[in-house]
Amino acid sequence: MDIDDLKTRILAGERRALARAITLVESGRADHRAEAVALSDALKGPVQEMGREALRIGLSGTPGVGKSTFIEAFGMMLTAQGLKVAVLAVDPSSARSGGSILGDKTRMERLSRDRNAFIRPSPSQSQLGGVARRTREAIDLCEAAGFDVILIETVGVGQSETMVAEMCDLFLLLLAPAGGDELQGVKRGIMEMADILLINKADGELKRQAIRTCADYAGALRLLRKRPQDPEGFPKALTVSAVEEDGLDKAWAEMTALADWRRETGHFAGRRAEQARYWFEAEVRDGLLARLRDGDARAAMASLAEQVEAGALSPSAAARQMLEEHLA
Ligand code: GDP
Repeated sequence: MDIDDLKTRILAGERRALARAITLVESGRADHRAEAVALSDALKGPVQEMGREALRIGLSGTPGVGKSTFIEAFGMMLTAQGLKVAVLAVDPSSARSGGSILGDKTRMERLSRDRNAFIRPSPSQSQLGGVARRTREAIDLCEAAGFDVILIETVGVGQSETMVAEMCDLFLLLLAPAGGDELQGVKRGIMEMADILLINKADGELKRQAIRTCADYAGALRLLRKRPQDPEGFPKALTVSAVEEDGLDKAWAEMTALADWRRETGHFAGRRAEQARYWFEAEVRDGLLARLRDGDARAAMASLAEQVEAGALSPSAAARQMLEEHLA
């Protein structure tokens, strides 16, 4: 593949080139991997020189809360303002089902026809580590292609939220109107990651309940420890209606206010720097674990484990031998 040509076309904002490059980063083939790394290296300089910086927004919420309805309405609002919007998805369940949350073509139909929008379904794969790398690289590619806003959607289960929060500038949690007792259903750790809670479905019969739920969450947020990366009043809870497209402009105003504040105070760049470090360390760890799964290393592990079990070697001595002789 002509990496230089692909680079030029991505920088020119060509969607087909972008789609092709994302396919490249999603590939598990070793030669594709080498090309993907070469491409991202080639893009780094020009992206910095051109000052391209997208606002990366993570969005999480349980199935049925209205994520795709929200992203479509919100995305259309942004493209109507002349912004270019990319939507990526991280779906941990796709590893099992082979499907994906954005795989269904009928989702976000209007947005997918929008010339200023780019929607990429979640790839199916087996390991969260692999998903993380591919998603991060896809985000970088969208940024290089000149997208202003990148929305990364994930379902509210397990580790995927932490992972998405570690690759975003802002993290949103979409919630449904609930009875008072149900608030506890949202794990504290997830609340602590969120910058803005959006209580969706604040329309029709659910409106009053949504307003009450929002007040309850706002109260819960006030009890959290203040984070240095937040101005006064954040994290914050707001009501929206994705269906009636109500409150979306207010939500966007809050997001941009928060992002602007973080840019001015250095927290925006600081967070990206911390994330880069985090992912570097994570990839080294993943790489080491992958080496452990190699045939030779696996055999050595098994043989040493037997000797430890038999009492011929101490666990420490065996571990040392493994690290020094088989993984160095
Ligand atoms: P997702 O699984 O989180 O992507 O949720 P969907 O966007 O598919 O929405 C799930 C259901 O909630 C659908 O029937 C939507 O029509 C409905 N829904 C989404 N947003 C709203 C909203 O703002 N108000 C109301 N009343 N229903 C909504």
